[in-house]
Amino acid sequence: MTHAITVENVSFAYDDQPVLKDVSLSIETGEFLGLIGPNGSGKTTLLKIMLGLQTPDAGTVELFGTPATEFTEGTRLGYVSQHSTDADAVMPVTVREVVKMGRYAHAGLWRLTADDHDAIEDALDTVGIADLADRRISRLSGGQRQRTYIARALASQADLLALDEPTVGVDADSVERFYDLLGELNDDGISIVLIEHDIGVVTEHADTIACLNGELYEHCETEAFLDTDALERAFSSARVVQGNAVAGGD
Ligand code: ADP
Repeated sequence: MTHAITVENVSFAYDDQPVLKDVSLSIETGEFLGLIGPNGSGKTTLLKIMLGLQTPDAGTVELFGTPATEFTEGTRLGYVSQHSTDADAVMPVTVREVVKMGRYAHAGLWRLTADDHDAIEDALDTVGIADLADRRISRLSGGQRQRTYIARALASQADLLALDEPTVGVDADSVERFYDLLGELNDDGISIVLIEHDIGVVTEHADTIACLNGELYEHCETEAFLDTDALERAFSSARVVQGNAVAGGD
């Protein structure tokens, strides 16, 4: 089985605050992984390290079989961060323009070809926002904005989507449709890493679950995960990273 991402023995600290201790985790191509853990347990930090956006203090990261430090195909990774919506919200850009940016990343500095334009329209269609293409991004709801960022990743031909709490502030109906969309993209072969605080959503949609609190408590298939006590241990215990006890739980 090929791995989209392999993280081995990764440790990380912000200045003198240890956050991750000896974490090893592999994501197979096509896997839908739900990453869960209490607030401050290192989920976002691990995700950034997985994507090569942050360098671990110890350990190694491979992206599609290439060491993260030598990986040059960034467009294969689509990242929708908690804050990606904030930055563009104030910019006078339309939905199509945001999606186009994803394609420019793919096409380099060359002019976009007819195929590129088709890819942009396909991406808008796939996430169900073709009718909003000319609307300013600042005029969208939270759910529509998240779809726009997914379309941008699709236009850049991402093989893996990494989403950090993508449905914060999105209404319940849109959340349901959003996860249906992620399921469809995953069925089409796109690997997904999802940080989500709603554990019910994760157990419903993810194939596998990784449970983190400084260290990795468990990573296995969702059904098997529900038979473990990993959740209870990760959420109830004090977090101990490199010898320092840190309060766990929300
Ligand atoms: P989670 O995503 O599980 O909430 P994070 O990875 O965001 O956890 O944060 C883990 C810990 O690292 C938290 O205690 C947080 O306050 C701290 N932290 C996160 N980002 C930074 C940063 N840029 N500088 C210093 N500390 C940070």
